[in-house]
Amino acid sequence: MKAAVKTATAIKEEEIRPDDLFTKFMDLSADDAQNFFDRSQFVEVDCPACGCKKSEDAFNKYSFQYVQCNDCGTLYTSPRPNPEELLRYYAQSESQKFWAETILKQTGEKRKESIMLPNIERIEGFLKELDKTPKSVLDVGAANGSFLTEWKKRHTDAALIAIEPGEEAAEKCRAAGIKVFEGFVEKEAENPDAEGDLVTCFEVLEHVQEPESFARALCEATAKGGTAIITCLGADGFDIQLLWEKSRSLMPPYHLNFLSKQGMETMFSKAGFDKVDVYTPGRLDVQIVERSIERGLDVDLSRFEKLLLSRGEETLKAFQAFLAEHGLSSHVWIICQRND
Ligand SMILES: [Zn+2]
Repeated sequence: MKAAVKTATAIKEEEIRPDDLFTKFMDLSADDAQNFFDRSQFVEVDCPACGCKKSEDAFNKYSFQYVQCNDCGTLYTSPRPNPEELLRYYAQSESQKFWAETILKQTGEKRKESIMLPNIERIEGFLKELDKTPKSVLDVGAANGSFLTEWKKRHTDAALIAIEPGEEAAEKCRAAGIKVFEGFVEKEAENPDAEGDLVTCFEVLEHVQEPESFARALCEATAKGGTAIITCLGADGFDIQLLWEKSRSLMPPYHLNFLSKQGMETMFSKAGFDKVDVYTPGRLDVQIVERSIERGLDVDLSRFEKLLLSRGEETLKAFQAFLAEHGLSSHVWIICQRND
C-alpha cells in the first residue's frame, strides 16, 4: 500500500495554529502544567507502547518529566496525572477553555479546509487500496461530529456513530443525526452496538492516560473485517527529534505519549489487530523547524543540518518527501486491520 495519497491543498502551520493565539495557549498551558495539579495524584508508568520498564530521562518540561523507552524509543511522561486528575484538567483548566472557546472557534473553517478534507481524501485512498467499502463509520473522540458530517456528504449511505465524552459535543453530534455513545471509548466499546466497519480516531492517542487499554478499546470497536485509522504525533518525526524539549508539540499535560513507529506496531498488534501499518505522510516537519529558528528559538543544529536547511525550497521539499516516505515525519497515520 502506498503511504501518501496526494491531496491538492497545501497546508501551512500558521493557518491551523495562528502564532499569536497559539503563543497565548502555550503560555496558559505552561502555567497550568506547573500549577493545576495535585502532584500526590501522579502515577509512575511503564512504556505506554511496549510495556518496557526501563527508560532514560529525556528532559523535564514545565515540571513534567519526559522519559524515553529503552526498548522501543517511545517518548512519554512519567509520572503522570491519574485518570481523575486528567479529567479534571480537561474540564476546568484555563488553557483548555482557551483552546475550545477561542482557538477552535477562530480556526474552525481553516482547520476544516486544511486538515479535515485532506484527511477524508486520504482515508478514501487507503480504503480504495484495501478494497473496502465501510457501511458504518465510528469516530472516537468525535468532538462536534464535523468529520462524520463531512464524511456523510460524500458517502450518503454510511451509518454514523460517535464516541464522545464531552456532554456539549455529544449533544451537537446528536443534533447532526449521529448515533452517539457518550463516554470514553474504553467503556463505551463494551457495548456491541458501538462498532464500526471503519473506526477513526484523530489526534487523541497523544493525550490518553493509558494508551494500551485505549488501543484495545479501538480494536473492540472495530468490526471483524474492518479497519481502524488512527492519526497522532510520533517520536520519530524530524521536528520532534531535532527540536526535542523545545518542540511546541511537546506540551504537557496535553501530549503525554509520543510513540515511536516500533511502539505503535507493538501496541496495536498486542491490542488485537491482525495487521498494523504505520505511515508518516506529514508535510510540516521542515517548515516547523524553519519557523522555530525564525522565531529566535536557539536550536542546536549539527553542521550538516545547517547546510541542509540553507539549501532552499526545492531541496527542502524533496527532503520533506523523503521524511514522509521513510517513516520520519512526526505526523503519523496508523492503519489497523481486523481479519474476518
Ligand atoms: Zn517501549
